[in-house]
Amino acid sequence: MFFKEIERVAKIVKSVLKEKNVKIIAQFDTDGITAASILIKALIREDANFSLRIVKQLTNDVINNLVVSEDDLIIFVDCGSGQLDRLTKILEKTIVLILDHHEPVRMNHINLFHINPIIFGVEELSSSIICYLFAKSLNIKNTDTIDLSIIGAIGDEQEEKWEFHGILKDILEESKIIGKVSVTKGLRLYGRNSRPIHKALAYSFEPYIPGISGSESKAVQFLSEIGIDVKADGEWKKLSDLTVEEQKLLASAIIRERLNELDVADIFGDVYTLVGKPKELQDAREFATLINACGRTGNPEVGIRLCLGDYGIIEKSWKVLEQYRRMISNALNLVRENNLIKSTENFNFLIAGDRISDSIIGTTISILLNSNLVKKEKPIFGFADASDSMVKVSARVSNSIDVDLKKIISEAVKRVGGEGGGHKQAAGALIPKEKIQEFIYHINSLLGETNAKES
Ligand code: C5P
Repeated sequence: MFFKEIERVAKIVKSVLKEKNVKIIAQFDTDGITAASILIKALIREDANFSLRIVKQLTNDVINNLVVSEDDLIIFVDCGSGQLDRLTKILEKTIVLILDHHEPVRMNHINLFHINPIIFGVEELSSSIICYLFAKSLNIKNTDTIDLSIIGAIGDEQEEKWEFHGILKDILEESKIIGKVSVTKGLRLYGRNSRPIHKALAYSFEPYIPGISGSESKAVQFLSEIGIDVKADGEWKKLSDLTVEEQKLLASAIIRERLNELDVADIFGDVYTLVGKPKELQDAREFATLINACGRTGNPEVGIRLCLGDYGIIEKSWKVLEQYRRMISNALNLVRENNLIKSTENFNFLIAGDRISDSIIGTTISILLNSNLVKKEKPIFGFADASDSMVKVSARVSNSIDVDLKKIISEAVKRVGGEGGGHKQAAGALIPKEKIQEFIYHINSLLGETNAKES
């Protein structure tokens, strides 16, 4: 049904493309940017007239400010499903296509084409994969965007135990056959081919290395203690320069560091190589991080250009990445040094105010949940100022715990006002600033009710 619907909608869209101004609105993370890039490549192939807007979130403000005419085809990418009930005015004017994987509002409309795997009872897929399937139905030549769909799925944390399963695995297999991606097993460390090892370790937040993540000097000290020279012939060595013996030494040392507090197996996983890209962009996990950095630092156009193969932008993208890493490091140090994590009976939380940007509060709490700085047994919520009057909420829970954060957040938002949504294990909201304490109270009692039902 799901695949048939994609084909049906692609056929209809193809038939009207030439007479429409296509307006794409996509979310600013890796999944949104890669998904939008896939669509752009497909639209260029169709010789369609299009524009793109990348947004932090599809908020009421964004929706109300969209200028729409009957000549437009509006495509929401990686957003729209959860906001469907607020799109009626747009639907009254023209055709809307939604390519999204967030929990959908159930609604039908003559002008609505809604492609979301949840509606069809299909397993969870990233928006990049949905856009890939759609683009492939538009024109089989669009299989050349398959690598972007994999990058988006990685960025969207679609792996389980650091491997793809189900439809995602099938698409990975397809990408291998097409010759766009190759897969090996290895240490999941950032910067295998492109960064000096000490930077790779200091930049590694997922997997988190206690005492070393976030600190280059501690990483250099750690390497010297285990007997790995950081330089050869005066040049910084990269992870890929290490001998097999050195790699084993490094792996056991990292395992030792994580031994008491974190899952040791977590440092190994599939390593995806993007065949044919410049060497420094060949690691798909790094590419995903780079695109995320572009979106979250307010440079989505850099991410789009990289996805479209405009490598003249690489130097700028490294600067953006450096800025993003610094933001994350600073956020983690701030939390550590000021003991910002507080607890209620049923969850941990962090109120950052304006000290952590609302665009990285989600990433920060994700890292915290996978670090030794916070226990995995409870969900974690982060609050960061979004404006003078509103606060961005991000929530994460470990997949070993059966809590539906999207449901909890949606209910709490109903009680305090604002807007929210997301997924079971990662959800978010925008709430009035003066309601934080009330919101915390409701979340605690809603989680309490869930726990009571469970036990
Ligand atoms: O921003 P963050 O990464 O915490 O968002 C987690 C999930 O919650 C994402 O899927 C995002 O789209 C969703 N979300 C939402 N409404 C918000 C904020 C986040 O649906 N206001």
